Amino acid sequence: IAYELQDESDQRGNSGAKLPMGLKSRRLRVLVTGGAGFVGSHLVDRLMARGDSVIVVDNFFTGRKDNVVHHFKNPRFELIRHDVVEPILLEVDQIYHLACPASPVHYKYNPVKTIKTNVMGTLNMLGLAKRVNARFLITSTSEVYGDPLQHPQVETYWGNVNPIGVRSCYDEGKRVAETLSMDYHRGLNLEVRIARIFNTYGPRMCLDDGRVVSNFVAQALRKEPLTVYGDGKQTRSFQYVSDLVEGLMRLMEGDHVGPFNLGNPGEFTMLELAKVVQETIDPNAKIEFRPNTEDDPHKRKPDISKAKNLLGWEPKVSLREGLPLMVSDFRQRLFGDDKSSSN
Ligand code: NAD
Ligand code: UDP
Ligand code: UDP
Repeated sequence: IAYELQDESDQRGNSGAKLPMGLKSRRLRVLVTGGAGFVGSHLVDRLMARGDSVIVVDNFFTGRKDNVVHHFKNPRFELIRHDVVEPILLEVDQIYHLACPASPVHYKYNPVKTIKTNVMGTLNMLGLAKRVNARFLITSTSEVYGDPLQHPQVETYWGNVNPIGVRSCYDEGKRVAETLSMDYHRGLNLEVRIARIFNTYGPRMCLDDGRVVSNFVAQALRKEPLTVYGDGKQTRSFQYVSDLVEGLMRLMEGDHVGPFNLGNPGEFTMLELAKVVQETIDPNAKIEFRPNTEDDPHKRKPDISKAKNLLGWEPKVSLREGLPLMVSDFRQRLFGDDKSSSN
């Protein structure tokens, strides 16, 4: 891996040249695609704090400049408006490839575009990684397990996915993205890392994101009923964003390709989640049942033994601890009346 020297502003090629003797500080050049989004912006904060040079590539489909605006004055930070479906030339040491809408509402909005992002976007970023010999991490998803017949889900499980359904653009798209990553790894010796992320929540999620935690929190704060889809007995396991970012960085820095499940094994039905939201925000919040969406997975819970053993990682923040942190961010963005920071 080549490094950009701390005291030099010129762009160095990735020649693998040794650092001159006596130079203590070296700086990693990291590309984060989708870095203006929810997870990406939290990852960028950690990389910037570590002293890396960070380039964010984002087309702002679901991301916002607001999420990274606090880095604009830092010369180590660069934001490029670009769609990963188009090729791009950059010189970097590591690529965190997150660019892809994650909420079902967003990824179903233009399914063909979602497939292009997952397939052509991932291909382009792998091509870039190959050209500059960068390490490449793909953020895949628990959706690769589909409506799982195994519970909890272990990485060796191949999944139960509908190839022609309304969610396929996303879950099949991510499966291809994993396949592409493995083929670049096997065929071209590229260093790749695969994370399978389970439902993650936290500050900076889009207010009208459509995902269940952001919906319930925004609804409770606006004094609207919490919309429970179906009978509310389906389960998900909710991970706080700082735990995920720690897992992604450990995976990138570690020696293992994966795939690794990154999620919090704490499993909740949607009715239980609604109850936690009521307890946190408004005990009088009403619940309203709505028809469920097509192909909704019935249950989801990660087996994280592999990440525990090989990455020394496990989540630290429970739903009851994490939710209030998200609530103060949402309150501030909705009403501007909460003094706590949105970070
Ligand atoms: P998000 O929608 O907040 O962020 C996605 C970012 O990618 C946005 O900034 C968006 O503008 C950008 N983007 C989308 N398409 C793009 C394109 N074609 N070119 C350039 N930029 C593009 O979602 P998130 O929750 O931050 O998810 C980040 C990654 O993690 C995604 O790859 C997602 O599939 C994965 N993931 C997230 C979760 C979760 O619960 N948050 C779960 C599983 C997997
Ligand atoms: N690519 C890119 N940036 C680069 C190198 C490649 O966007 O720095 C794109 C390239 O345009 C191609 C894709 O990545 O569409 C795959 O590149 P690769 O070299 O692996 O395959 P090839 O171009 O030989 O098909
Ligand atoms: N859901 C819900 N109410 C909402 C939004 C979602 O009950 O307002 C349910 C949805 O049907 C699913 C679960 O919550 O069973 C998680 O949905 P989400 O869109 O957050 O993520 P998914 O895991 O489906 O990608």
